[in-house]
Amino acid sequence: MQFLADYLEQVKAKNLYRQIVTYNPVSPARVQMGGQTYLMMASNNYLGLTHNPAVQQAAVDAIWLYGTGAGGARLTTGTFPLFEQLEQELATFKETEAALVFNTGYMANVGVISALAGPDDVIFSDELNHASIIDGCRLSRAQVAVYRHTDMEHLQGLLKDTACQGKRLIITDGVFSMDGDIAPLDTIAELAERYNAIIIVDDAHATGVIGPGGKGTAAHFGVKDRVQVQIGTLSKALGAEGGFVAGSWELIDYIKNKARSFIFSTALAPGAIAAALAALRELSSRPELVTKLNENAQHVRNLLKAGNMPVLDGITPIIPVMVEEADEAVWMTSELKKQGIIITAIRPPTVPVGTSRLRLTVTAAHERDELDAAVDAINMVVKQFRRTVR
Ligand code: PMP
Repeated sequence: MQFLADYLEQVKAKNLYRQIVTYNPVSPARVQMGGQTYLMMASNNYLGLTHNPAVQQAAVDAIWLYGTGAGGARLTTGTFPLFEQLEQELATFKETEAALVFNTGYMANVGVISALAGPDDVIFSDELNHASIIDGCRLSRAQVAVYRHTDMEHLQGLLKDTACQGKRLIITDGVFSMDGDIAPLDTIAELAERYNAIIIVDDAHATGVIGPGGKGTAAHFGVKDRVQVQIGTLSKALGAEGGFVAGSWELIDYIKNKARSFIFSTALAPGAIAAALAALRELSSRPELVTKLNENAQHVRNLLKAGNMPVLDGITPIIPVMVEEADEAVWMTSELKKQGIIITAIRPPTVPVGTSRLRLTVTAAHERDELDAAVDAINMVVKQFRRTVR
């Protein structure tokens, strides 16, 4: 199996080799590794709910009550009542008729897209959509028309010019995972109505983050009744594990009967479902968490801009500091680690070649002095790099 070694050599030579780092998360904002504590600025735990006592206790209680595993897929083995409660409350939160939980956000995208689209259909997909959307499109065997990132004229041109015998679907991340910008869902809604298309929005990074009370992208633009399919994850702002789709009763019933990643996989464990439910209740009853998250994000964006850092514009807590080449990003990440800060280097194939970056994420659990220290360190490392290459 020489191809294994060849591939690994190749990615190492290009500075694209990936390794999993092991650490102990001691709080939403701090991790320990080799006896040292680091500030975590690379997590999608936007509201810090992973370490919320009510959320932790709910998971423990559910394990004692229902056990550690689900024992089978929901359609074959049945389910425990927490699932239905979570789905009802997700629907209430999203202001839809119904919702259905998947094992991950990845499986929700793959399952929903391949259930809704088939070989006669055309999917219009933003070029920076998440890998799970791309995989869902491939699995559907629909024709895929990729439009330039958030370019509504290009989308309109494709909608006008692409012949289609079946359905048209427009698919987009709500908040883009690597650029942190927001899909223009208001314009997408207008185009969808004009060209008779169904909208699917993936709010993995938008649920609990943008819109009133963290209700997501459709709520942010006030177009919730014009977006037919809202996907989300329980593993980012909700601090647990799993994914979901929210929409009409009929949509959810159809997905239950058609989405293979739902039908053929063992359901999530009680602890994960209970944690997600408790986290959703925290989010619904404490909108100040979302406010703090967004204030923290704005604070960091302002400081980075004041220091002339090459930051992509936006309002969300995903803040990309552009450094172009993969080796630069890797070097900066290791320098930041020496200073006690974890920020991930994002490189191809996750982002296009020449757009490597430090992807900094801010949470509601960070304190101002921690954020200030992180920005100081980034300023220093970026300036040090510029001096070194000059
Ligand atoms: N969609 C987007 C936009 C994401 O960024 C991610 C996770 N990185 C997912 C879906 C998948 O969600 P999960 O991690 O719950 O599988």
